[in-house]
Amino acid sequence: MNVHESEKLAGMLVSLGYTKTEDMKFADVIVFNTCSIRDGVDQKIMGNIGATKKLKKNKPSLVIAVCGCMTQADGASEKVSEKFPFVDIIFGTHNIHLFKEYLLKHKDSKKKIRDVWEKEKGIFETVEMLRDNLFSNAWVNINYGCNNFCSYCIVPYVRGRERSRSPEDIIVEVKGLINDGYKYITLLGQNVNSYGNDFEDKSINFAYLLKTLNELEGDFRLKFMTSHPKDLSEDLIKVIAEGDKISKYIHLPIQSGNNKVLREMNRKYTREHYLCLIDMIRKYMPDAYISTDIIVGFPGETEDEFLDTKDIIEKVRYDGVFAFMYSRRKGTVADKMENQVDEDTKKDRIHRLLQVSKSITKDKNKELVGKKLNVIAVKNTEDGFETMSDSGKTIFVENTDLNVNNFYTVEITRFTKNKLFATLTKGE
Ligand code: SAH
Ligand code: SF4
Repeated sequence: MNVHESEKLAGMLVSLGYTKTEDMKFADVIVFNTCSIRDGVDQKIMGNIGATKKLKKNKPSLVIAVCGCMTQADGASEKVSEKFPFVDIIFGTHNIHLFKEYLLKHKDSKKKIRDVWEKEKGIFETVEMLRDNLFSNAWVNINYGCNNFCSYCIVPYVRGRERSRSPEDIIVEVKGLINDGYKYITLLGQNVNSYGNDFEDKSINFAYLLKTLNELEGDFRLKFMTSHPKDLSEDLIKVIAEGDKISKYIHLPIQSGNNKVLREMNRKYTREHYLCLIDMIRKYMPDAYISTDIIVGFPGETEDEFLDTKDIIEKVRYDGVFAFMYSRRKGTVADKMENQVDEDTKKDRIHRLLQVSKSITKDKNKELVGKKLNVIAVKNTEDGFETMSDSGKTIFVENTDLNVNNFYTVEITRFTKNKLFATLTKGE
């Protein structure tokens, strides 16, 4: 979400005649698009903003702007202006579409601008984007905000309530991207499964959107993130299974494998329900790639409760696990809980969890030998033609020349030292 919003900010700058530079020394404008999901990220941003003070001293015309989730949080924008008085423009998450206006106004008046909206005001379609084009992937927002209020999470406070983009706007954007040659279209939302919940017409939901986009003409694949387990239905799983252009890749964050912790996290599902979903996904898509997010050290999490999470990782055998140490976020329910877990315990738990998940991923890579996968050609290398699977795995296709940015079906032949090798399947 943050990366895609940076593409929008960059697009606005390009429309004003700016070009991108990799070296801050040459910059005329520096925008910090901040994330505040965990404390470590917050700290890093503060350090980076501080480091630009010298640049600004050497080049007073340099414009420094700070926006994103960190500045949106209660009282944070005031803190940024106090701590870094040299920052010129500060805005939040709800008004990024106004960045261009703020920049022009500042350049004209030389006055500092601080404008953080308290609440979201609908959806503002942004047309200008400087897309990164990394592996031909284009991000497309489908819904903004979040209504779930997981007790540890800052997102609902800094992103506002859930609101869905109209299917028409999404379809126009996706068609344009396909015409421009993008091969992967990744639909973005904090909870894509609740797409359309805010529409009067209840027939427009995420399953409908996926089905409609799957029918568009062109050589492309659809991806999406993130799916909340409480809203993943059998109907939707069937649509994903049946869509020939839909990646069989589901990121399904469980957060914890213990029911008491899940309840206190306000996740609204149990481990049993979650395991049923995994069975259902595998029933319709035996080779689906499934990944998850985990939080260790949530307030009050005991060793036994943590072991339930470790157990679920061993049961599901994920293809990818993103594990985080619980981080206190001001204003959230969990931050007020008294039984916070100490940092050493969190570190120990994340370490043990990642050991288990790494060894499972390694075994799963070995099990891929003999399987067929959809890949996109990236570049020629010494190890063979580098390709990427729908789920982001790097696979080297041997003894063949491929066309970059084209899709192929390959068969995995061997796995060595963390590298996967394949050959083209017959008929390709
Ligand atoms: N909407 C997505 C998550 C977005 S945040 C979803 O519900 O799946 C991405 C991940 O960051 C979350 O899945 C969670 O694992 C992690 N996260 C969020 N808040 C956190 C916190 N306070 N401490 C540690 N990890 C956190
Ligand atoms: Fe945060 Fe939960 Fe919303 Fe995801 S669903 S953004 S974890 S509150």
